[in-house]
Amino acid sequence: MSKFDFAPMPDTDGFFGNYGGQIIPPELKKVMDDINQAYEEIRQTEAFQTELMQLNQDYVGRPSPIYHAKRLSDQLGGAQIYLKREDLNHTGAHKINHCLGEALLAKFMGKKKVIAETGAGQHGVALATACALVGIPCEIHMGQVDIEKEHPNVTKMKILGCKLVPVTRGTATLKDAVDSAFEEYLKNPEEFIYAIGSVVGPHPFPKMVRDFQSIIGREARQQFNDRHGKNPNIITACVGGGSNAMGLFTAFLNDDEVKIVGVEPAGLGLDTDKHSATMTLGKPSQIHGMKCYVLETEDGEPMPVHSIASGLDYPGVGPQHCYLKDIERVEYHSVTDDECLNAFMSLSQVEGIIPALESAHAVAWAMRVAPTLSEDQNILINLSGRGDKDADYVAEKLGL
Ligand SMILES: *Cc1c(COP(=O)(O)O)cnc(C)c1O
Repeated sequence: MSKFDFAPMPDTDGFFGNYGGQIIPPELKKVMDDINQAYEEIRQTEAFQTELMQLNQDYVGRPSPIYHAKRLSDQLGGAQIYLKREDLNHTGAHKINHCLGEALLAKFMGKKKVIAETGAGQHGVALATACALVGIPCEIHMGQVDIEKEHPNVTKMKILGCKLVPVTRGTATLKDAVDSAFEEYLKNPEEFIYAIGSVVGPHPFPKMVRDFQSIIGREARQQFNDRHGKNPNIITACVGGGSNAMGLFTAFLNDDEVKIVGVEPAGLGLDTDKHSATMTLGKPSQIHGMKCYVLETEDGEPMPVHSIASGLDYPGVGPQHCYLKDIERVEYHSVTDDECLNAFMSLSQVEGIIPALESAHAVAWAMRVAPTLSEDQNILINLSGRGDKDADYVAEKLGL
């Protein structure tokens, strides 16, 4: 097991090149700086590192294996496809990696309550799980519209003992839940801590979430090298906010021979307004306390975005991704809802692995390029989560 580690970016103001920072009111800046300072101190302590490493191993089930999808590779007739199995983690996705880190940090900081918003409920369930484990009260704000759509996750959060706050204002969806959760947080930032669900938001969150997720890539690099004596030729992951992708990419950023690809949702097509391809079609702007690429309407509001995968429909994106695109270290491509569904069914029926619709985006891109490559090339996909949550939806959509 590798120890908790970190990469040298961002700079001390939280910038990755032109992106990131703290686009927030002055009173909030002090709160964020306090979190950053506490994080920098606590993460270096033996006690924190040991407890996080132990929980990653015994509770999450790390290291997650790398699996050679041989039948899928044979069927595509080209590059060999490998899967980093984050779907096998406790709670079934990568989100537990940073939720555990954030909950443990809250405990070490002596916080009395962890607060967060959730959209589809995946972040809420992972955070409620981590807070139950660590023994710290947890309060999740969720739009009433989302509460009605996402019954299994709502039930799980209640069972896990978190306080679920329904948000009925505005459109009663994610954006309103963010506002509501932040208001609660600002009532007492000394005793509360906010837990962001991806590599987004004001500094230090893009850094912290990345650091906690980067265990994915450190394991994968070691595992792949142990087996093959070299790195994979291509690594890829889906990009919503970008946490599972940064988790895989970080350990490989200095390996110049490795091609790195992030995959975004093209939804119904890039020429429609029903997509969420922020890296591909967004412009540098700001959202949720950070500078990053944003999909905006003509009057500068965040665009209502669409993806078949609810975890990917975000009009912003993590600032480090924007930087990595600008310096041309990472390529960003997109796949449509239909390609995603096709990949979802292929992986299920050829390998017996039902992927999350989010993860199926990365699988779809790999399926597109594998046939164009020779058999001695390897593609490593981050399988960010399992697809149980999507099974009913897909069955209905395809009339199964
Ligand atoms: C939330 C989620 C994502 C998208 O979030 P990122 O921060 O982009 O990783 C991807 N896959 C799964 C399974 C998720 O739950």
